[in-house]
Amino acid sequence: MAKLKIHYYPEKVLTQKAQPVTDFGPALEKLAEDMLETMDDSEGVGLAAPQVGVSKRLLVLCEPEGEPMCLVNPEIEESEGREYGEEGCLSLPQIYARVARATRIKVRAQDLFGEPFELEAHDFLARIIQHECDHLEGIVFPDRLDVFTKEEVLEQWETVRKGLTRSARQRV
Ligand code: ZN
Repeated sequence: MAKLKIHYYPEKVLTQKAQPVTDFGPALEKLAEDMLETMDDSEGVGLAAPQVGVSKRLLVLCEPEGEPMCLVNPEIEESEGREYGEEGCLSLPQIYARVARATRIKVRAQDLFGEPFELEAHDFLARIIQHECDHLEGIVFPDRLDVFTKEEVLEQWETVRKGLTRSARQRV
């Protein structure tokens, strides 16, 4: 397994719609494994392929104390309820905001071998899946905020991002 580079907002791959996965095979399995390792290593609970620079509809996630999961070509078919909860994102590290999400969703997806399955998710798991599915549409969590909060959050991110780029340069 290998750790992948996480792309930061607003790189293009994070703001465009990802393409459906059509090739199921060892390359997809390897990508999913590497994404899981990258997510664990970064102490994230979810990661979408565009975040590692791959514009494909694949995401991995793992609830605290839960089992790792991979969702290929996921579609949220039903959603209900609405609750605010704090979210962060590995593509905008150190930035957090309260985002409204559905509390119960039904998702249809494929596994790494192309087998279709359905999943019902509640609360935190439902939140993770909605956040990651947004990435496949080129949406990041600040896009879900009201315009004033979004502006504030993106300003904070700009400051953090400059700092991150600077420290990365110093490490070279
Ligand atoms: Zn994210």
